[in-house]
Amino acid sequence: MKCTRCRGAAEVQLRAHNSAFCRPCYLLFFRLQVERAVASEKMFTKEERLLIAVSGGKDSLALWDVLVDLGYDTTGLYLGLGIGAYSSRSHDKAAAFAAARGLTLRVVELAEEGPGMAVPAVAGLTRRPACSACGTMKRHYFDQLAIDRGFPVVATGHNLDDEAARLLGNVLHWQMPHLARQRPVLEPTHPRFVRKVKPLFRISEYETAIYSFLRRIDYVVDECPNAVGATQLVYKDMLNRLETASPGSKLTFLQDFLSRAQPELPSANADGPPQTCVQCGMPAFGEVCGYCRLVRETTAKRERRAASGAA
Ligand code: SF4
Ligand SMILES: [Zn+2]
Ligand SMILES: [Zn+2]
Repeated sequence: MKCTRCRGAAEVQLRAHNSAFCRPCYLLFFRLQVERAVASEKMFTKEERLLIAVSGGKDSLALWDVLVDLGYDTTGLYLGLGIGAYSSRSHDKAAAFAAARGLTLRVVELAEEGPGMAVPAVAGLTRRPACSACGTMKRHYFDQLAIDRGFPVVATGHNLDDEAARLLGNVLHWQMPHLARQRPVLEPTHPRFVRKVKPLFRISEYETAIYSFLRRIDYVVDECPNAVGATQLVYKDMLNRLETASPGSKLTFLQDFLSRAQPELPSANADGPPQTCVQCGMPAFGEVCGYCRLVRETTAKRERRAASGAA
């Protein structure tokens, strides 16, 4: 097998791209893919400060690595979700990555926020699925941190597999508002929202794993325990089977949606821009934002338990 680019011995075969690469050419290919995504979607410029949401997993660390390599001004943000050993290991990997490269990593521990907002405690007290509570808090802290510290952009490590699985889920349930918002760049619709971008949206999980391996990135391998049994994993599995039978299917599915179907959808803001939360000043759909509702419910439940002596 020969390298598609330099004709040397290839080590990596990418059936989806009908290509094979030697190590140096693979790294070039990966960087080029990210550069193209950033440029074609007008995600950000070299003059803008980027806040990279890092989980300690391969995708977000590979994203941070490649953006540093491409010369962008980056700062990492690690949100400690308080999910036992998984969170401790993720924090260690993110911190070690930043320290080894002299990069700045900001850390927010949810257990130390508000009345104590670790995901398992909040989910248990408010009787919400862990991922729903987790998603609300991630959205809140990503925007709040970015706004308070002067970052116009938050970049996340969502890859092609994530986006294709999300698309499949949205299509299976015809979630029109979700489909209208499924884009690699989301412009802010409120003064306390920042631009959200997904520079890896055309790069598969497999490609990111190879990049991380070749760049010797040490990442947390285990999935979050709450991901076990998630429908998203069933969709990923289905798409992987399709990809094996027909390489390139995932990319075509997502790309064709973005170029052909997405522009036909009504605006994601058909109901108007969000209001402002009366409690924290962040965007809200209603008087109080989703995060403040979680804080209220968590506080009330804790107080009730304390009063009844059950806490
Ligand atoms: S699987 Fe759920 S709880 Fe775990 S990090 Fe993802 S959204 Fe949060
Ligand atoms: Zn080569
Ligand atoms: Zn609020």
